[in-house]
Amino acid sequence: MDFEIEYSTEQERFRAEVRSFLEANVPAAMVTTAAVESYTAEQYRMQRDLGRKMGVRGWLYPQFPQEYGGGGLDLDHVIILDEELERLGLHLPPYYDSGGKMGGPTILVWGTEEQKQHFLPPIFKGEVRTWQLLTEPGAGSDLAGVTTRAIRDGDDYVVNGQKVFVGSNNGAEWMWTIAVTDPEGPRHKNLSWFMIDSSLPGITMQPLELLTASGGEAGSASGEKQSVFFDDVRVPANCLVGGENNGWTVASTHLEVEHGGTGNIGRSRMREALFEHCRTHQLDGRPMTEDPDIRELLMDLYVDTEITRLYGLRNYYLAYAKKARTYEGPQYSAHRKTSNLKLTRTVQQILGYYALTTDPEYLVGEGHIEFMQRAGIVGTHPGGTIEVQKLIMARRIGIGSTPREKAGDLG
Ligand SMILES: Cc1cc2nc3c(=O)[nH]c(=O)nc-3n(C[C@H](O)[C@H](O)[C@H](O)COP(=O)(O)OP(=O)(O)OC[C@H]3O[C@@H](n4cnc5c(N)ncnc54)[C@H](O)[C@@H]3O)c2cc1C
Repeated sequence: MDFEIEYSTEQERFRAEVRSFLEANVPAAMVTTAAVESYTAEQYRMQRDLGRKMGVRGWLYPQFPQEYGGGGLDLDHVIILDEELERLGLHLPPYYDSGGKMGGPTILVWGTEEQKQHFLPPIFKGEVRTWQLLTEPGAGSDLAGVTTRAIRDGDDYVVNGQKVFVGSNNGAEWMWTIAVTDPEGPRHKNLSWFMIDSSLPGITMQPLELLTASGGEAGSASGEKQSVFFDDVRVPANCLVGGENNGWTVASTHLEVEHGGTGNIGRSRMREALFEHCRTHQLDGRPMTEDPDIRELLMDLYVDTEITRLYGLRNYYLAYAKKARTYEGPQYSAHRKTSNLKLTRTVQQILGYYALTTDPEYLVGEGHIEFMQRAGIVGTHPGGTIEVQKLIMARRIGIGSTPREKAGDLG
């Protein structure tokens, strides 16, 4: 089956419109290299600015309903927008707002009409940025074991607890989380899902000064992870989405997005950079690509990255065409994470120590290669580890669990 997309005259007209908009509104200084450290506050400001301009046109979250600030566009137009942003190393929905990418669809599926009207337009128009706050010091893979509490008191819930490895640099206006609302309740039925204003008294953000790199590439803006502390934070009761003690089911929507259920059309910039380097650099007096050992390694890398790309493309199509799916999200994620980790070794076999340096004199592929060496291991964790992806996949294809687990509800 061929998943590649062909475009009509009308779609090509839309592409030209998008391209000229981006040419006029994306300053050269905004496009980042792969090295996360090079992502500046000024570049972040420019990205937010672009996000707001796209939001006005409904292009920031193009597939979501216009009544909530989305674009109401069909799959073909969404893909064209995605492709045109991708040419600039940006991603859609917005590169700087992965929390909105997951929190938006969750509110669309689970929110009341009033909550949709309140929360969705600012997200879909790029007026706010949101973080997802799930992981805790004692609850990563075992996410249902979170201990942050939200106890009802009058018209508020009082939140106490700590989240870790969340957010990024440059702050966020909103954050969403799951917290225990019934301390005596059974596992999975004791949690609720909240959208929280990050300026509420009692919230403290503390950067984690670690060597980080996300699974993404240039412009992912996910450099610095944070700890977030909640000390007697009074959250209005109407910020609870999807019903009290129903938070685990609500979370299945954004976890489906995060586990890869909505796919990706992304190309591998690392692969392009590596191939270009090997074509234009010599080993023993001939281009590296003519060395039989290197050529074999490059083909191994091509096969793995191409499988990832095709899984991503398939899931993208399934999601936006609203087709049923079960295991496809975690399958994409498990393969992407496993092969990215394996390929760090392949790249080192090809380039040796050049793969590890950020020294401008020896840098390969504008930092995409060195970044990939760090992201290979770090990227196995965000959104659930390889083991977690395999476990979910097994449950969905009926291995080791009866009845089969369903995919998260994406509406
Ligand atoms: C760059 C980065 C960005 C992140 N961004 C966010 C974010 O924005 N928001 C957020 O909430 N969290 C975020 N996280 C946290 C991430 O979700 C967790 O790291 C992840 O869920 C794993 O949890 P953990 O780190 O506690 O590891 P653990 O759960 O302690 O796992 C450690 C190891 O044990 C394995 N393991 C655990 N349980 C099992 C089991 N039952 N069977 C087999 N193996 C098992 C795991 O696979 C892993 O290899 C981020 C992490 C990173 C590194």
